Amino acid sequence: MNHQELWKSVLGQIELSISKANFVTWFQNTSILSIEDGSVVISVPNGFAKEWLENKYNHTIIQSLRSFEGDAVRSIRCVISGPQTIKKSIDAITQPVQQIDIASKSSPLPPRIQPFNPTAPVPTPKLATAMFHESNLNPRYTFDDYVVAENNELAHAACVAVSRNLGQLYNPLFIYGGVGLGKTHLLQALGNEVKRQHPEKTIKYITSERFTSELVDSIKNQKTDKFKEYYQQMDLLIIDDVQFLSGREKTQNEFFHIFNALYQINKQIVISSDRPPKSIPTLEDRLRSRFEGGMITDISQPNEETRLAILKKKVIEKGVSIDEESLRFIAENITQNIREIEGALNRVIAYSEFYKTPPSISLVEKVLSQLIIQNKKTISTEDIVSATEKLFSVTKDDLLKKGRKKGIAHARQVAMYLMRSELSMPFSSIGDYFGGRDHTTALHAFEKISADIEKNLRLKGDISTLKNELYHQNGG
Ligand code: ADP
Ligand code: MG
Repeated sequence: MNHQELWKSVLGQIELSISKANFVTWFQNTSILSIEDGSVVISVPNGFAKEWLENKYNHTIIQSLRSFEGDAVRSIRCVISGPQTIKKSIDAITQPVQQIDIASKSSPLPPRIQPFNPTAPVPTPKLATAMFHESNLNPRYTFDDYVVAENNELAHAACVAVSRNLGQLYNPLFIYGGVGLGKTHLLQALGNEVKRQHPEKTIKYITSERFTSELVDSIKNQKTDKFKEYYQQMDLLIIDDVQFLSGREKTQNEFFHIFNALYQINKQIVISSDRPPKSIPTLEDRLRSRFEGGMITDISQPNEETRLAILKKKVIEKGVSIDEESLRFIAENITQNIREIEGALNRVIAYSEFYKTPPSISLVEKVLSQLIIQNKKTISTEDIVSATEKLFSVTKDDLLKKGRKKGIAHARQVAMYLMRSELSMPFSSIGDYFGGRDHTTALHAFEKISADIEKNLRLKGDISTLKNELYHQNGG
């Protein structure tokens, strides 16, 4: 058996004994470079595979090798060699000299591996030094500026805990909640806190959209190795709005590899989304189960007291003074999310500056009246139906017809629930709307969904997605 055949047989055995995801992640692009005095030198594509194979899979590989080659096989060692290109950068610099030597002395190497030249100028690893400028952390977001209340206390506590125990406590940490409820603030605060306590740590905050576009660029420019290398150096990787990865197969695949590489060496990953992993359509199962393997926590709608507390904090931050009554008016009337509350506050401040009158309840009422009417008016039964159609891939016809098919019946109940909860419609009108059904059907739907929301994460996520769709599209 030559080296190639031997390795193929070994891989065949290992593939049966570990999960497909692990196999692909760690054994893809590996080969035997040489065998000398019982020591098998394996070529691997990167430092993470090296670490993984030499530590975690050492025993498995040796056993498998022995089953073909006998007890003469004593040890394995991995040598990093890029699958396509010459790896000049960090891997080459950190590679101990004699390893490369051994590899290059033994069987002829594929030409892509450059002999190590100790007198060549050592390139500086630019990535590491440039990192902080690209961490994308905005110092405006801190834990101190974050109002903690019952709607977000768990998420807040998890972020604080993670900032003190990077990679050790909850990994990954997954935070979900509707638009404008404070996910980005919390994630950024976590990053800023780590940066403050450990200036040497490498931190990256990025939205999944940005991540995707960087990846696409790197593919175009044939720099995916660099792309991965860059991300795999992070001590803390924060990916915001991960729902946008949904359906992008190639991006999910790359993300999975980066995720694994970081995860295996206890680097911290923090993720946010507008809904729980279960409710992200077309998220690959392996990513979903990775996300679910850590800590999942949500941020929900703040109540009026919390909205008021946040307003007071924002007023202090902005250095303006607004009386309690006016603030309470805003907190009572702008209810959808905190971003809109802040928007309303900014509007009040801008008017007051423009007209050179101090903010007062009458000014606030005047300024916000239009906003409030808009908010209330724009949500209609049709909006609810079309949001439901979209989320559940059903048609209005399906919803109004008599059918009881499971998926459609569920979507119908959700729409009925929203008509009650968001429009306060009488159950009899809801029944009428849905093809002349009895009011008890609407009542039952409302009660069922209300009860299920508490138990069913997916449903909770769906409802919050729908509400955001309704208010985000129409409210402002
Ligand atoms: P999301 O990422 O969930 O859409 P953001 O984090 O962007 O929401 O929050 C929207 C705005 O509301 C930000 O300006 C943020 O500072 C503010 N905000 C949200 N939650 C809080 C909070 N608990 N305390 C203070 N400000 C908050
Ligand atoms: Mg955000």
